[in-house]
Amino acid sequence: MDETEDNRRTIAACKECGALYAALELGAGKLHPIGRQDGCQCGCTEFTSVDGSLAGLSRGEGDD
Ligand SMILES: [Zn+2]
Repeated sequence: MDETEDNRRTIAACKECGALYAALELGAGKLHPIGRQDGCQCGCTEFTSVDGSLAGLSRGEGDD
């Protein structure tokens, strides 16, 4: 296999607190937040991709 689409950039949202990070998509749903080797600020290391869905974030969730 020769996947040329490696390390695609996307947006990752923390599953715990919803914080958003620029991330690299490593494939198979694995996300690596850029500059966050220890995961989220809250300590969570699980993220969900919100690639292309930023328009849905305008509802004011996580207000402070
Ligand atoms: Zn978090």
